[in-house]
Amino acid sequence: MSYQAEKELALRIVKQAAKLCQRVQQTQGGKAVKKADTSPVTVADFGAQAILCQGLMEAFPDDPVIGEEDATLLQQPGLEGVRRQIIEQVQQNIPSATPDNVINWINWGNGQVAQRYWTLDPIDGTKGFIRGDQYAVALALVEEGEVKLGVLACPAFPREEAKKGVIFLAIRGQGSTEIPLEGGTSQKINVDPSSTFEQLYRIESVESVHSDRQVQTAIDRRLGLTYTAKQMDSLAKYAAIARGDAHFYTRVPLPQFQDKKENIWDHAAGVIIVEEAGGKVTDLEGKPLYFSVGPKLSHNYGVLATNGTIHSQVLAAIQREK
Ligand code: AMP
Ligand code: MG
Repeated sequence: MSYQAEKELALRIVKQAAKLCQRVQQTQGGKAVKKADTSPVTVADFGAQAILCQGLMEAFPDDPVIGEEDATLLQQPGLEGVRRQIIEQVQQNIPSATPDNVINWINWGNGQVAQRYWTLDPIDGTKGFIRGDQYAVALALVEEGEVKLGVLACPAFPREEAKKGVIFLAIRGQGSTEIPLEGGTSQKINVDPSSTFEQLYRIESVESVHSDRQVQTAIDRRLGLTYTAKQMDSLAKYAAIARGDAHFYTRVPLPQFQDKKENIWDHAAGVIIVEEAGGKVTDLEGKPLYFSVGPKLSHNYGVLATNGTIHSQVLAAIQREK
């Protein structure tokens, strides 16, 4: 399958959602409210989810959508101002949008895993967005548990001559590409297949509680890494591996978070972008990531993404240190 219609729609709505995020960042910086789990969420998270879901609902009404955000929070007293700002932002993209439309679009992302579904994270790396660092708008199409298409918009991703903003796109069997966010020609990207560990870069989250750094240090020593790991928020880490800027990325659950499973939207788009660029992604036991069980990767333990060449060596080192 060529997925031409899916590709055109996904690129268009992800770009629009990224523009909304940039606009919110310029006008209100990193202003955020807290979710029930105490993680931050912004006007841009909700606005971008509304834009993405509206496009998917219109073009593929039969496809369920599983997104990170839910509009329930916005019914709380004291958040009327936030709700108004979200509606105003969405109306800049879709002038006819009513307040009810916007809430319904956000909640369109409450779908369930099916034979074919979309999963999205309107802003992955919200903490990076708030800090003014990396973040990503992520959208993926899954069929029969396999990711078939993935798009990542990374508005702060560095390009040549101090320019910023890249869209990464992968379609199963068609490779991975990068396109400047403001438009231009698309270019194929590939992993760097090097396997000399002394010259390889690992990439990790900026947030230290998202992976066990103590275990990681032992793994790095066993592999003979010499370079300090690069750090980056969000799914942009997958893009860094896919274009050869880094060589592997692990998520090792901390002892206190052993039962906290990864969300499908935090990985799906990144997985296909790495795989189609020649890399490999599994969990820490070498199993494929199972995208057909629900909104969490509940049948997996941690995540490992590599350039492919070094995958089995890194897995072996992890097995010994876990
Ligand atoms: P990153 O930008 O790589 O640090 O990852 C951001 C994602 O980490 C967020 O989308 C959260 O869903 C997820 N997250 C939050 N807390 C944890 C945790 N304790 N362990 C692993 N991932 C987490
Ligand atoms: Mg996320």
